[in-house]
Amino acid sequence: MSPYSTVVLAADLTEESTLLAERMKQIVGDSPCAVHIVHVIEPLSSAYGGDVPMDLSPVQDQIQDQAKIHLAEFGAQLGVPEDHQHLIFGRPQSEIHRVAGECDADLIVVGSHTRSGLARLLGSTANGVMDSAPCDVLAVHVGEG
Ligand code: AMP
Repeated sequence: MSPYSTVVLAADLTEESTLLAERMKQIVGDSPCAVHIVHVIEPLSSAYGGDVPMDLSPVQDQIQDQAKIHLAEFGAQLGVPEDHQHLIFGRPQSEIHRVAGECDADLIVVGSHTRSGLARLLGSTANGVMDSAPCDVLAVHVGEG
C-alpha cells in the first residue's frame, strides 16, 4: 500500500515525462491515488524582456497550442482526467509548488539531470522544487543535463 494519495507529476512533456510516469506507477502501485500533471510555460517576455524588438505573442500562442496538444496526449496515456491536467504560465518551480499546495499533494515527481559546469551553477528545476516543497519530492534521475 502506497503512503501517497495525491501525486503531482511535473512534466516538461519530453520523453523524460514517460520515465517519470513509470517511476510514479512503481511507487504508487495499485493504491488508489489522484494524479495531477503540471506543465509550465515560461513566458517569452520574461526570458527576453524588452530585448527583442518584435511582437512575440504569435510564437507564444503557438507554444501554448502545442503544449495543450501534448499535455492532452500525455494525460490520456496515463488516464489522467482533463481537470487534473494543469497548463500554466509562470516559473516552473513556483507553479509546481502552487499546484501541489492547491491539490493538497503528498508527493511531487520531478526529473533530475546530472549536471556539470555552467549548467550546475545555474541550478535545476529539481533542486528548485525540492527547496521548500510543501510535501515529499521524488527526483527521478533522467540522464545528463
Ligand atoms: P530541468 O532542470 O529543466 O532539466 O528539468 C528537470 C525536470 O523538471 C523535468 O524532468 C520536469 O520534471 C521538471 N520540469 C522542467 N521544466 C518543466 C516545465 N516547463 N513544466 C513542468 N515541469 C518541468
